[in-house]
Amino acid sequence: MRGFDYGDGISAIDARYGGREKRVAVHLIVEGAQAAIVDTAHNAAAPAVLAALAERGVAPEAVALIVLTHVHLDHAGAAGTLMRACPNARLTVHPRGARHMIDPGALVAGTRAVYGAEAAQAMYGEIVPVAADRVVETGEGATIAFAGRELRFFDAPGHARHHVCVRDMRTGHLFAGDNFGLSYRETDRDGLAFVFPTTTPVQFEPGALHATIDRILALAPGAIYLAHFGQVRDVERIGADLHRLVDEHVRVARACPHAEGAPRQQWLRSGLFEVLLDEAARQRWSGERKSWLALFGDDVQLNAAGLGAWIDRGMPEG
Ligand SMILES: [Zn+2]
Repeated sequence: MRGFDYGDGISAIDARYGGREKRVAVHLIVEGAQAAIVDTAHNAAAPAVLAALAERGVAPEAVALIVLTHVHLDHAGAAGTLMRACPNARLTVHPRGARHMIDPGALVAGTRAVYGAEAAQAMYGEIVPVAADRVVETGEGATIAFAGRELRFFDAPGHARHHVCVRDMRTGHLFAGDNFGLSYRETDRDGLAFVFPTTTPVQFEPGALHATIDRILALAPGAIYLAHFGQVRDVERIGADLHRLVDEHVRVARACPHAEGAPRQQWLRSGLFEVLLDEAARQRWSGERKSWLALFGDDVQLNAAGLGAWIDRGMPEG
């Protein structure tokens, strides 16, 4: 068992993304004999997800929904594989993401462009397409229920334009995907969780992200579930930190003296490491400098690449 049980039928499974623990979560909502899977992680996680469902008494045939917050492959990589394993499930996805699940060609090409072909193949394997008639587009205001439990969707740009947030109407809790930052349990101190934004290529839009964070805060959810990683409470404090850190990312991007290429990536990366270490000191994160650098190394690299892509697009606010 590699799960985290949060009550109300909600749990997180550790996808062991890239072989690392507690980086990527797959969330389950179990209601009666049925279940919804919220984000799927990458292909290699699929057997663990099915095993976790079996432990909770849910057969693959009783999975009603596979819900994607967005189609980045650390969230959607196993969607096709799990849809194959769960014959009665419907896949919910933002209208901008639906075609990428039906025909993953462009998504795979985009992922190769970010990570390189070999690394993309090693991380994600074969992306299985999903039959169009099993896909439900969940844009702004969509609702969908399973076993009498309602999920409500809203359009949530900022991290990506194919992103929704999902509200579980039973608890009022929210599944934020990547719009409420990264929060790794290793940095928790005295029961407090801390965050760092994620500005992954290629659709980071800071104005839209601020608006999405405000929209989340206006709902005052008692808990938020992050794909990276698991449940956070104390939402108002974390939201304020996130607003400030998104601004810090923008400040670093605007200050960058290099127009392009490796020097720019290098400069953005070290600027963001400074932001990270300042935040760790300010909030007195658990752990030490070396552990934070290891924990967030890949994320800072991706955030820097995302800021580079944002600069190339002319720094749209969204
Ligand atoms: Zn993402």
